[in-house]
Amino acid sequence: MSTIIRLRQLTKHYRMGETVVPALDGVDLDIQEGEFLAITGASGSGKSTMMHLLGCLDRPTSGLYELDGQLVSSMSDRQLAIVRNRKIGFVFQTFNLIQRTSAVDNVAVPLFYARRARVRDPALKALRRVGLEQRAGHKPSELSGGERQRVAIARAIVNEPRLLLADEPTGNLDSKNGQAIMQIFRELHQSGVTIILVTHEMSVAVQSERIIRMRDGRIIQDRKADDALRHELLGEATGTRRIESRGVEAPLVVARPVKV
Ligand code: ADP
Ligand code: MG
Repeated sequence: MSTIIRLRQLTKHYRMGETVVPALDGVDLDIQEGEFLAITGASGSGKSTMMHLLGCLDRPTSGLYELDGQLVSSMSDRQLAIVRNRKIGFVFQTFNLIQRTSAVDNVAVPLFYARRARVRDPALKALRRVGLEQRAGHKPSELSGGERQRVAIARAIVNEPRLLLADEPTGNLDSKNGQAIMQIFRELHQSGVTIILVTHEMSVAVQSERIIRMRDGRIIQDRKADDALRHELLGEATGTRRIESRGVEAPLVVARPVKV
């Protein structure tokens, strides 16, 4: 197996006036081609920052990022756009579809950027892969949340990228639709696509093969998702739900000092 992603001391600092936020703080990571990896961690731990850098949507403050043997951390915006279009598919929590146009035209957008001569057939083929060919003419407003996310996945895979990045792809979906999305990811993984998925849902993370946990812009745990880890994390997830349900009362307590 070959290394598709190599990060060395990857760092992203955001400047907020006088203060500097170390959103990503010296990450070392190797990912092999064909891996299915989940990134977890509390809100603010740097997961989205990491995904933006991996997806070549943003550049690091310092450190090295090699994608498929190419040093992308020092590329120009134009070069990054080409890498994104050829090698990377991105799926967002909020789907990010163009509202006024049909599913098939949404899926075709990356093909236009790639200046492909044939557009409609590959777009329909990608829709077929996510089971939505019969919805090709529907606009996003005429589709359910689960279907919209499947259109977004079709758009992400239409150029047949080697790497698929998904930031909380099931975050806006109920568990049934979330599972349908995970099933598509499993099939893509089986066809050889490298998948990196950010999620705060342990029940989603345990469906990957390797789980990375982040805190304060660093990787604090990196483990193979074997049965022991799955058991441990699902146990923890039950614990989290208990804390969250207790948290329902918390805002009332917090609200008091604010009113004073
Ligand atoms: P996560 O996705 O794990 O919730 P993020 O990567 O979005 O975390 O954020 C990591 C840290 O960086 C947070 O403290 C966040 O407030 C900060 N941050 C993220 N994006 C920006 C930005 N564009 N400008 C300033 N700070 C940011
Ligand atoms: Mg995030």
